[in-house]
Amino acid sequence: MPEGQIVRAVGGFYYVRTPDGDVQCRARGIFKKRKFSPLVGDRVTFEWTANGEGVVTQVEPRKTELVRPPIANVEQAVVVCSLNEPRFQPELLDRFLVHCEHEGLEILIVLTKLDLLEDPNGLRQIRAMYDPAGYRIVATSIKTGEGIEVVREELTGRLSVFAGQSGVGKSSLLNRLYPDLELQTGAISRKLGRGRHTTRHVELLDLPEGGQVADTPGFSQLAFQHMEPVDLSDCFPEMRLRAPDCRFRGCLHKNEPDCRVREAAENGEIAPSRHRHYLQFLEEISEQRRY
Ligand code: GDP
Ligand code: ZN
Repeated sequence: MPEGQIVRAVGGFYYVRTPDGDVQCRARGIFKKRKFSPLVGDRVTFEWTANGEGVVTQVEPRKTELVRPPIANVEQAVVVCSLNEPRFQPELLDRFLVHCEHEGLEILIVLTKLDLLEDPNGLRQIRAMYDPAGYRIVATSIKTGEGIEVVREELTGRLSVFAGQSGVGKSSLLNRLYPDLELQTGAISRKLGRGRHTTRHVELLDLPEGGQVADTPGFSQLAFQHMEPVDLSDCFPEMRLRAPDCRFRGCLHKNEPDCRVREAAENGEIAPSRHRHYLQFLEEISEQRRY
């Protein structure tokens, strides 16, 4: 039976990409009964119908599954922050990182607008905050072209979704990298920014060098209500690494004795700002649980 990948979903139709082109499919009725919906990104098997369309009959197990935006099998989150205009906000970056970690995605941090960076030490300070977590960081500018080709390499060969505040330069970067793709990312996020209602459909775009990007403004959900307090330190790689050495299992790395994570934050092995944001997010999660 023919197989392919759903690259777009609109109005009950799934567009399945095959080596011979895209096939318009519906989903088999049984999925609905099971309250299961195929997602963009799913690897599927389908059957041809008499009218030249298809019916999706089987969905491969998913590697990852995002809810907003609804995409299956995303491998990499590209978290985009500008170095200036809007100013770099480590707390916001950490918020995005926690969400991507929670979804089990690989993460690439892209810092944009390098040409607008005023403090020559700024970049070094940011790297010092995120190196202990092991994150890959690329600093870019669409004005000077710096870092652009590094981003291209990191995108090649996998399915990536972009995340980041509006105005940081996500669509500029993608348009600079892939001028022929005619992305709608920017247009959509700008409309959303004004609170206007748009029919959002997610689409996967094939990159010329291999790999795909999801054409969507990215994560829209930045509250932590779906998380448990004990899960949070798993979303900070440099804490996850040390947590097994804390004296107590289930240590929340607040005031517990013999806490390796707090020690690491105190002696600078972990960036103090990262530990501070961890404590702040922990407080947010605990607040939500009180209601
Ligand atoms: P998005 O909302 O994240 O998609 O952001 P946009 O791509 O729409 O960019 C927002 C603004 O930042 C636009 O005016 C861009 O021209 C500008 N911009 C994007 N990248 C750079 C950069 O590397 N340097 C400078 N100086 N401006 C940039
Ligand atoms: Zn601890």
